[in-house]
Amino acid sequence: MEKWRATSNLRRSLKSILNRQLSSVSEFRYLNEKRSCQSSFNLIRDCKSLGQVNAIQHRCFSSASTLVQRNPSFSTLNSDDISYFKGLLGEKSVIQDEDRLETVNTDWMHKYKGSSKLLLLPRSTEEVAQILRYCNSRCLAVVPQGGNTGLVGGSVPVFDEVIVNVSSMKNIISFDKVSGILVCEAGCILENLISFLDNQGFIMPLDLGAKGSCQIGGNVSTNAGGLRLVRYGSLHENVLGLEAVLANGDVLDMLGTLRKDNTGYDLKHLFIGSEGSLGIVTKVSILTPPKLSSVNIAFLACNDYSSCQKLLMEAKRKLGEILSAFEFLDTEAMNLVLHQFDGVRNPLPASMHNFYILIETTGSDESYNRYLY
Ligand SMILES: Cc1cc2nc3c(=O)[nH]c(=O)nc-3n(C[C@H](O)[C@H](O)[C@H](O)COP(=O)(O)OP(=O)(O)OC[C@H]3O[C@@H](n4cnc5c(N)ncnc54)[C@H](O)[C@@H]3O)c2cc1C
Repeated sequence: MEKWRATSNLRRSLKSILNRQLSSVSEFRYLNEKRSCQSSFNLIRDCKSLGQVNAIQHRCFSSASTLVQRNPSFSTLNSDDISYFKGLLGEKSVIQDEDRLETVNTDWMHKYKGSSKLLLLPRSTEEVAQILRYCNSRCLAVVPQGGNTGLVGGSVPVFDEVIVNVSSMKNIISFDKVSGILVCEAGCILENLISFLDNQGFIMPLDLGAKGSCQIGGNVSTNAGGLRLVRYGSLHENVLGLEAVLANGDVLDMLGTLRKDNTGYDLKHLFIGSEGSLGIVTKVSILTPPKLSSVNIAFLACNDYSSCQKLLMEAKRKLGEILSAFEFLDTEAMNLVLHQFDGVRNPLPASMHNFYILIETTGSDESYNRYLY
């Protein structure tokens, strides 16, 4: 598994994907119309030193990791860089404090550790754009970070990349109760969005264990699934639009709120699940379903895995339109929970089961839902 780690690579990946997607089309409208994009791609071609040395910094998860070297073509931070960022963002948003850097250099699982000397906290898309424009001009590598709850090490630096975190961009921009469309900044914590929507009578189409820390920008960048995927599908189905800043500072405005938009290439999908490799997501528009009144939960035990599969098939067939979650855990996971959390008990009789299933249904008609159960 590897992750691209260079400002120039962000642009190069996007360019090659766009070229692949558009090569058969005679009119390369997107790039022609976005002149700034085109010029940024030219910059890569001009940046010979990076091109010649194959400027990819990637993470290896095997014993080969010792072979990964920092690419010397990337600059290291100097005092002029720090002064520039302080002038742009103010002292408080330029973090060099060792304790805070220790936290943001270490991933959630404490498996990966970087050695970044700088965390930047922009408050607007324009600030993100200026940071990336500057880093690009100085050949400084960048890693976007959200709530740092990712489990694959993508949110922490491999070496000394500048960490850019949009946690200060946490405004809800609009919510339309008729369509259920929420537009917000990428630094909004998932749980805050869930609470906001709850007051409006809506829910987020995704819910996961890290909701108290993860950001919607991070969710989009990891194409996070979670408990409600079985009902509402992945973020490819629910995200209607995005705003993102490319490595050269160009802002891509794809922040549509139209559900059925068939006006050409749907570039936002490239960013969903791209783990920050194409740019920094700054705004998200997302379709949210209404909160339904009847919620029922069942907890079941199975002795073997094939019984779990049969149960899933039955649940899909018999609870079709109201099935909202189907979660599976084995004995080991159950024992871990029982030992680690005070007051948690297994609701089933203490006999030994190999697997457990949690089924949730959500619907609008209490009696009908109970009847199906
Ligand atoms: C307890 C727990 C439960 C979890 N449950 C699930 C689950 O049920 N389903 C599931 O799919 N995942 C789950 N995850 C992992 C999940 O991917 C992350 O929790 C979440 O989506 C990442 O969001 P984050 O803001 O923490 O991003 P980070 O961890 O900070 O970053 C993740 C990746 O996205 C990039 N990134 C972050 N923000 C941006 C941005 N604004 N623009 C561009 N790139 C960005 C980073 O560079 C990195 O590559 C779980 C994790 C934990 C700790």
